[in-house]
Amino acid sequence: MSEKVWLSTYPKEVSPSYEYPKQNLAQFLIETAQKYPKKKALYFLGTTMTYEELLIRTYQFANALKNIGIRKGDRVSIMLPNSPQAIISYYGSLMIGAIVVQTNPTYVERELEYQLNDSDAKIIIALDLLYKRVQRVIPQTNVKYQIFTSIKDYLPFPKNILYPLKVKKDGLSMDVTYSDTIYSFARLLKTTSSTPSMIELDPMKDLALLQYTGGTTGVSKGVMLTHYNLVANTLQTRAWCYKSEEAKEKYLAALPFFHVFGMTVLMNLSMKMAGELVLLPKFDIDMALKMIDKQKPTIFPGAPTMYISLINHPEVKKYDLSSVNICISGAAPLPGDVQETFEQLTGGRLTEGYGLTETSPVTHANTIWEKRKLGSIGIPFPDTEAKVVDPETGEDVDNGQIGELVIRGPQVMLGYWKKTEETSQAIRNGWFYTGDMATMDHDGFFYIIDRKKDLIIAGGFNIYPRDIEEVLFDHPNIIDAVVIGVPDEYRGETVKAFLVLKEGTMLGEEEIDSFCRERLASYKVPRIYEFRDSLPKTLIGKTLRRVLIEEEKENQRSN
Ligand code: AMP
Repeated sequence: MSEKVWLSTYPKEVSPSYEYPKQNLAQFLIETAQKYPKKKALYFLGTTMTYEELLIRTYQFANALKNIGIRKGDRVSIMLPNSPQAIISYYGSLMIGAIVVQTNPTYVERELEYQLNDSDAKIIIALDLLYKRVQRVIPQTNVKYQIFTSIKDYLPFPKNILYPLKVKKDGLSMDVTYSDTIYSFARLLKTTSSTPSMIELDPMKDLALLQYTGGTTGVSKGVMLTHYNLVANTLQTRAWCYKSEEAKEKYLAALPFFHVFGMTVLMNLSMKMAGELVLLPKFDIDMALKMIDKQKPTIFPGAPTMYISLINHPEVKKYDLSSVNICISGAAPLPGDVQETFEQLTGGRLTEGYGLTETSPVTHANTIWEKRKLGSIGIPFPDTEAKVVDPETGEDVDNGQIGELVIRGPQVMLGYWKKTEETSQAIRNGWFYTGDMATMDHDGFFYIIDRKKDLIIAGGFNIYPRDIEEVLFDHPNIIDAVVIGVPDEYRGETVKAFLVLKEGTMLGEEEIDSFCRERLASYKVPRIYEFRDSLPKTLIGKTLRRVLIEEEKENQRSN
């Protein structure tokens, strides 16, 4: 049984195992601003903001929302890249008890319309560059108010080159027409008072967030996370990096805040720890390297693709990366050689963690300073119980056997928004069923085998794509690989691999085939290969396996 393994691992004084404070999540910002008013809270494209300044602007924004008519429980869509405005909008909404709906700025109209309608958002706060796209969608929704902001609002002088998001040509307009219902973010702040604004709420029940799941599989669902869920996961993360000191760390905010991983492990943790957020509006490897070299961040949470692009950068050795000390990789499996190379390059520690939107997100991580195991997602976070069960019966399986990973802890969501059936499927007998197949070893370390849904069944054999992807990743010429099941007349399904090769290298199908045959049972060896320049990814770097599956189906239909 893995339950409570953490007790012996994290030092007693930081393993909370306590009642997590029942407070508004925005309280982290308020307390830090009171304790360290002059401390830098963020660095953004050449400008900085202290905690005092950040809090004043957040109060102003909270009051502005109240004046507009936003009330407790109203849904506020925030469609912004990492920026001071994203932080202000987030904590400002939370202060007045509104529920934040994080909206990915790269959403196309169809996705945006779905999310605004499903969440029944009352207001949207977006980047001016997205104005036209938002206007086309608003009439089909119940959104009453809109607030637009420009990245330039917080730059000392206009730098057009810094516009960070790829927006389609038709969206490239900054000519926002303001009205009774369409407001300017900058003007709202200028004209609103900064008197403290905080509403009474029940942190155990009241939602802080409706966070839509990545949408890499199935229909996107709104995950209901309470203030308590997010406060707890922030403090659990704080316990995980217990040697890091208050007001000492700088966080490279490369992960987007609109993803729950960036939100908790960067934004909320930095507020709690009086850290400085070094904001990257978009992950761009050249910009990230320069930022590390110049701003010297100490903590760099990321997705595997970020670390992969860093270690493969042709000029990586030109940069001083020695400030980087603590890194946690999540969202997708971290290849072992990437971890080793990254650590050699920076001298810091990169450990793998695991989580889901439904768990605020982190549930597991390898410890930073104690035991860790390559290829494992580590041990459960403090106060998190985890076990591997038979997906049908819910019975525990033996150590080393594959089963579904289930979780219990203060970070587990209340449920899915307006989806009671899906909620009762996901949370059974108090345990959250992750949909990930996993194993646990005798030391209580967990290993993700694959998503339950991604299982390929070929000739009656169960094949987990990740098993094969790991082998492909071991080939020195392969930098990215995804494996899917494609229909096969004889085997029902067969294995197809999509590969991205290292620039300037060549690799023939026969060569990969024999490489795989040496390392995999023959039923797992891919039968079809396709070479690509890149693979479709979410903004956080999770491979969009579904997109490849859909493309494959489309090809089959047209053949
Ligand atoms: P999301 O809710 O979009 O963050 O996706 C959660 C899913 O990401 C999990 O259910 C896993 O399938 C996957 N995931 C997260 N971390 C890892 C990891 N370290 N290794 C493998 N898969 C992961």
